[in-house]
Amino acid sequence: MNVAGAQTALAEHIPDDVVRGVMALAHHSGAKNWVPATSGNFSVRIDARDCAVTASGGDKGKVTADGIIRAGIHGPAHPRASAEAPLHYAIYRLSPAIGAVAHVHALPAVLASLALAHEARVRIEGLELLKAFRGVKTHETHLDVPVFANDQDMDALAERVEARLKGMTPAWGFLLAGHGLYVWGQDATETLRHLDAFDYLFTLMLKLKGIPA
Ligand SMILES: [Zn+2]
Repeated sequence: MNVAGAQTALAEHIPDDVVRGVMALAHHSGAKNWVPATSGNFSVRIDARDCAVTASGGDKGKVTADGIIRAGIHGPAHPRASAEAPLHYAIYRLSPAIGAVAHVHALPAVLASLALAHEARVRIEGLELLKAFRGVKTHETHLDVPVFANDQDMDALAERVEARLKGMTPAWGFLLAGHGLYVWGQDATETLRHLDAFDYLFTLMLKLKGIPA
């Protein structure tokens, strides 16, 4: 291997626990049928500059270490990164406490983005499982999940997301209308819990409205 090759390999090094975290999120979401037809992507923060994120394409439910790349949250663009990777980077830039991000096309989330959105948010309130979210201690509260219009220009969308979420009370996720859900937490384990909670809560709220999910 020449010097340039060795430097590339070094730059791509991803700690084993980070790889395991990305795979745990991806495989769980695959088993739940939340990432159909090669959709979705998953990442775990490595340090202040970089994260490990699933590369573009492939069934995320079966992703292996080869399908995970190391990318900078401030750039430059990685050649194997998905078009949606800039949204992961924008979320990491919101706070150093954000340690993992998951993006799924789960049916209840997509339905919620279309059927439950009011004034560009979905309000979840009065439900016990709200306590699954970090910092929530009682069901007597509400969580406003922002809803953004979908956009094929992911850089422009990332800018809108960053501008709206900056300084907001942590929502732990947002919806893209007709597209899917982004969720985060301090690490992969917490992000997985938040994913499960959103799925349960959206399904419950849809059923209350008579919408099968
Ligand atoms: Zn997507």
